[in-house]
Amino acid sequence: MVEKLTKKLEQKKLFHNKFKDWFMSNLIEKGFRKRKNSIYQRGSNEPFTISRSKFSNFIDCPRCFYLDRVKGLKEPSMPGWALNTAVDDLLKKEFDRHRQDKTPHPIMKEYNLNFIPYDHPDIDKWRQSLSSGISYLDKETNLILKGGIDDVWFNLDTEELVVADYKAQSSSTPVETKSYLESKFHQGYKRQMDIYVHILRQMGFKVADLTYFMVCNGEKTYDSFDNKINFITKLVPYKTDTSWVAPKIKEMKETLERESIPEHNENCEACVYLYCGSKI
Ligand code: SF4
Repeated sequence: MVEKLTKKLEQKKLFHNKFKDWFMSNLIEKGFRKRKNSIYQRGSNEPFTISRSKFSNFIDCPRCFYLDRVKGLKEPSMPGWALNTAVDDLLKKEFDRHRQDKTPHPIMKEYNLNFIPYDHPDIDKWRQSLSSGISYLDKETNLILKGGIDDVWFNLDTEELVVADYKAQSSSTPVETKSYLESKFHQGYKRQMDIYVHILRQMGFKVADLTYFMVCNGEKTYDSFDNKINFITKLVPYKTDTSWVAPKIKEMKETLERESIPEHNENCEACVYLYCGSKI
């Protein structure tokens, strides 16, 4: 009787272990990238493409960037920002009408800017961050840096390109340049502009230092929804600084070539969460 029971328990344990192995290998299969060209091969001479968002990830945490680009660990996917995308899409249509007519958009007149939307045969491609975007090959590192822009305007006085980024939000605080640019949540936005200006310059364009965030603030002070959100739109000028971009690209290349995984960012809440979770 005891023998029979022990055998049954052993069989149960075996089944449990097998199931655990299957479950873990399934998890591992899901957690890593399969597309070879999104994983960096150390010592390779082939140009390797890095998107603006991956470059930003590197700046935030070289460890996460390395795990992703060198080890192929997939970031958890996130749902899109549907309302923000809707505002972007409508603004693009609006600006495209003025681009075609070579006329200033009303916001340009409101801010006394002698601008028109810039008309370039590749403007549509420039706006597609996933399939094309703006890009250049950094010869020193053999990395291709690319990103999708929201819009480019043209300064008729200086004949320079002006990078513009649409931002939809809903805040109870009125949009003011100083507080907007100083907000800890907007530091990445400024970095994004620095990178776009850098890329366009490397593509051979004359680009102004001054860029604009077109901030569309959904007002919450109304008494009811009535199937619409009223927006107040402001331009927030931002003077870019591209001096840090080239040295950072070099640093990123050195990280890609590392044999060991970089240290984590000790201010990252996600890492604290994952670490504590693994201890339960
Ligand atoms: S600290 Fe950890 S979770 Fe946070 S970004 Fe870096 S590796 Fe990822």
